[in-house]
Amino acid sequence: MKLTASITDRIIRMCQLDMFEYEIDPYYGCEHQCRYCYTLNHATGVITTFRDIDRLDSELEGLTPQTIYLGMNTDPYQPCERKARVTRRILEILVSHNFSASILTKSDLIVRDIDILRKMAEPSAGVSLSFSDERIRVWFEQNVPDNSRRLEALKLLKEAGISTYILISPVIPYLTDVMALIEKAGDAADEIWIYRLEIRSTEDQNWQNIIEIIKNHCPEIEAGFQAAALDPHHPYWQRLRAELKELKGVEGKLHIEF
Ligand code: SF4
Repeated sequence: MKLTASITDRIIRMCQLDMFEYEIDPYYGCEHQCRYCYTLNHATGVITTFRDIDRLDSELEGLTPQTIYLGMNTDPYQPCERKARVTRRILEILVSHNFSASILTKSDLIVRDIDILRKMAEPSAGVSLSFSDERIRVWFEQNVPDNSRRLEALKLLKEAGISTYILISPVIPYLTDVMALIEKAGDAADEIWIYRLEIRSTEDQNWQNIIEIIKNHCPEIEAGFQAAALDPHHPYWQRLRAELKELKGVEGKLHIEF
C-alpha cells in the first residue's frame, strides 16, 4: 500500500445525500477494496492517499455549524487510519468549530473516536453490511472487519449515546439476506437504510468483479442474478419490498431506498 501526502483540492465538498449539505473524504482510495464498490470504476490502482487537511480550518470559517458526512467515497476507518489519524484530526477540527459529524464505515476502529463524537451535537454513526453469511461475505469483502466486529462497534456507539444506523448496501440479488442482517443488528441500530445494487454499466469494474465471483462460486444463480440486478422493476425487488413492509419490530426506523 502506497501512502502519499498533499492532494490540494477542496476538503469540504457538496454532499449528494439529501440529509447533508457537505461531506469530507478523509482519503482518496480505499484499502478495503470491496469487490462491488462503485469507486473501483474510477480508481487508478490500490493506492490510498492522505488528504492534506491543513486548510480545513479556513474552509469551515464562514459556514454555519452543521453536520458533515464522512464516508461517501472512501472508508474513514480503513486500516491506514489507525496510524495516519486523518479522520480523527478532521473530527477534532470539526468539534473546534462546533460542527458535528455523521460517519459511515465498515470498521470497528470507529470506536477509538467515541470520545470526540461525544463532544458533538447529535452525532451519528453507521456501519454498512451486505452479507449475513460469512462465507459469502469473504468473497466480496476479504479486507474488511467481519460483521460481528462491526455490530459490536455499533453497540458501543449506541451505548455511548450516539445515534446509530445500519446501511444494508448493496443488496446483491440472491446473495444478500436482508432479513437476517436486520435480525443480527437487533436494537443496536436506531435506523436501517436499504439500497439495492446499482450498476451504471456492465462494462464497469465492479460489475465484472461480481460476475466473476458468481461464476466461480455459484454459477447456478448467474442468470437470475443478472435479470434482477439490471432491472429495478424485477419481481425480486417487488417481493423484497413487500416482505420488508410486513416486518414487525422495525416500524419507524426502516428506510427502503429501492
Ligand atoms: S469500504 Fe466502502 S469505499 Fe471502501 S471499498 Fe468498501 S464499499 Fe468502497
